[in-house]
Amino acid sequence: MLEVGIHMHDSTGDLFYRDTWVEVDLDAIEANVRQLKKLLPSNVQVMAVVKANGYGHGAVQVAEAAMEAGADMLGVALLDEALALRKAGIVAPILVLGYVRPENADLAAENNIAVTVFQREWLEKAAAATKSQQKITCHIKIDTGMGRLGIRTAEEGKALVNLLKKYPFFEVQGIFTHFATADELNTSYQENQQKLFAAAVAEIERLLEKEIPVKHCSNSAAALRFSDQYYNLIRFGISMYGLSPSREIKPLLPFPLQEAFSLHSKITRVKQMPEGAGISYGATYKTSEEEWIGTIPIGYADGWIRANSGGEVLVKGKKATIVGRICMDQLMITLPEKVDVGTVVTLIGKQGSVRISMDDVAARLNTINYEIPCTITARVPRVYRKNGKVIDCENNVFPS
Ligand SMILES: *Cc1c(COP(=O)(O)O)cnc(C)c1O
Repeated sequence: MLEVGIHMHDSTGDLFYRDTWVEVDLDAIEANVRQLKKLLPSNVQVMAVVKANGYGHGAVQVAEAAMEAGADMLGVALLDEALALRKAGIVAPILVLGYVRPENADLAAENNIAVTVFQREWLEKAAAATKSQQKITCHIKIDTGMGRLGIRTAEEGKALVNLLKKYPFFEVQGIFTHFATADELNTSYQENQQKLFAAAVAEIERLLEKEIPVKHCSNSAAALRFSDQYYNLIRFGISMYGLSPSREIKPLLPFPLQEAFSLHSKITRVKQMPEGAGISYGATYKTSEEEWIGTIPIGYADGWIRANSGGEVLVKGKKATIVGRICMDQLMITLPEKVDVGTVVTLIGKQGSVRISMDDVAARLNTINYEIPCTITARVPRVYRKNGKVIDCENNVFPS
């Protein structure tokens, strides 16, 4: 028996009406978190990073699965993302890893959301804006080589600590940094960042005259490679979704990751074209002989960008090539033989023993795997599977 995607009409036929969907395997997310937890000493906590709608998988569903599998807190990039999780009823601790407007520090605090701080000006503005002087939980960000956000010098650190002491309603819960090269084979830059972070932690704690409870620097790549850098929290992003942080370190991963995201569609038209027939805009593809051409209802407005033209998809467990330009909502493939309308097409994922992985698609597009699920747009419904069963669906075009 061929295993061709899900039989969506059995249980989700009234949740969306187009025949293109993403399937998110929550069991895979849970398995990846559980495997990581086995690797970590019991005093090291796990932050599940669910920014950018859970790397395109769905933040709420992924957050729930990760917490169930033993994650301790959640990380997002934006205050809006954190608030959306709260609105969905998620009570787990959340840290906004990116910039929050100082005038919104109160709003974060009211919703029990921790914020990232790294500038004295920010603290002054947040202190001036706070109405209630309620406890504002924060993590101090140190820039040890990413060049993005964070304290870079001892003077900046000192100025920040002075203000933290002046305004005791800022509660320093954590201190962290972010690695720029943890996914590369050469570890020298990363080792230097590590040393700078250790020195910064010591200095800030000395100035604060107390220990900071939570210290963290490892993303997926560092967590899976460097056991001496856990501190007491690691930030698990890409590999929670079953993807390797880079191609180079794939052979070094301590356990097999399970890819959670797959993308499917169904053929809407099958036609035998004569030799020399033009396909799609510009008629850039001409059939070289009689060819079976299938039309698939996915296009660049779904994030299946035009650069995928010439790439492969799976039909009945075999590879078929995308021909001609990809349209906004549709594309064409050339088929080895006639198949029925309604046949499942897998663009990312497995049919039988054949797989097109996220890494295959990333390689085709000359980019990193992170970018692929993030760019599959909200127009494509996300179907959630757990224990083999469809348990939920997110349809942003026509919400039920
Ligand atoms: C996105 C992000 C992570 C997660 O990184 P992965 O490589 O996906 O594990 C960790 N920390 C910060 C600050 C981030 O922005």
